[in-house]
Amino acid sequence: MKHFSIAIHGGAGTLVKGMMTSELETKYKAALKMALDNGYSVLSQGGTAVDAVEIAVQILENSPLFNAGKGSVFTATESHEMDASIMDGKTLNAGAVSLISGIKNPVSLARDVMEKSEHVFLAGEGAMQFAKQLHYTLEDASYFYDEFRHQQWLEIKDSDNFQLDHSVKKDSKFGTVGAVACDQDGNIAAATSTGGMTNKKWGRVGDSPMIGAGNYANNKTCAVSCTGSGEFFIRAVVAYDVACLMEHKDLSLQEAANEVVHKRLLNIKGDGGLIAVDTQGNIAMPFNTEGMYRACKTSEGKEEVSIYK
Ligand code: ASP
Repeated sequence: MKHFSIAIHGGAGTLVKGMMTSELETKYKAALKMALDNGYSVLSQGGTAVDAVEIAVQILENSPLFNAGKGSVFTATESHEMDASIMDGKTLNAGAVSLISGIKNPVSLARDVMEKSEHVFLAGEGAMQFAKQLHYTLEDASYFYDEFRHQQWLEIKDSDNFQLDHSVKKDSKFGTVGAVACDQDGNIAAATSTGGMTNKKWGRVGDSPMIGAGNYANNKTCAVSCTGSGEFFIRAVVAYDVACLMEHKDLSLQEAANEVVHKRLLNIKGDGGLIAVDTQGNIAMPFNTEGMYRACKTSEGKEEVSIYK
């Protein structure tokens, strides 16, 4: 049997350890483990990497603990605008949506864009029209409402600031979610989903739905899902850069991921992290922030669910 593995994240950022109660920590770890186990079970039953990353991300989107789907952050106009993407490393097919609202599982709409449209990226009205065509039911705003996220927004709503939902010192919530997987056939995939950054405005789009920036998969090299201040991840084309370093500089997955997160991103003051997998099932999960909600599981019996360094 070939090696297979999955890694997931629930956001990276500045989190003061003392602010996290052990009860909350247990909740986060349980949510991560549930997503991890469901994704892993797809792989252990011979399912595809694409199916595994979609299901893992759906579960994280359904949890109000994370800034994706239910529990998404508030924009400057007190609404929710979500972004998501998915990529299949075997075919290089990809799908992405941005500036959508009311959709319970943005990752699945991204997958539908990949599989049921001629396009890669649909945004705003057009993406919503596409969802309507596919008979998606829309949740109303109360489904996405989270008291904590609302408080975060109230605190900065009258400023021009926008921020990672998890980079406020007193915050105990991390954000964006993602998954990468390598299946039994050695195919890899990546998916990422987010509510973006608190108080974002004017149709701001982050790195999460951008293929190559926040999400990328290619069987030649690796599958990557990112989290952090999107503006920096876009400028550094982070996910694709990891793949490039492997392809053109012959770096290992771990070396390439470390180079991007600990050197190239830091050089432009970019904060965040990523999860990555290669076609051998190796996993890397570097971050340059205080913590990153993360978990991984491999067919060799390795399992990890962690928050801090
Ligand atoms: N990367 C996301 C964005 O900029 C935010 C996050 O990772 O929490 O939209």
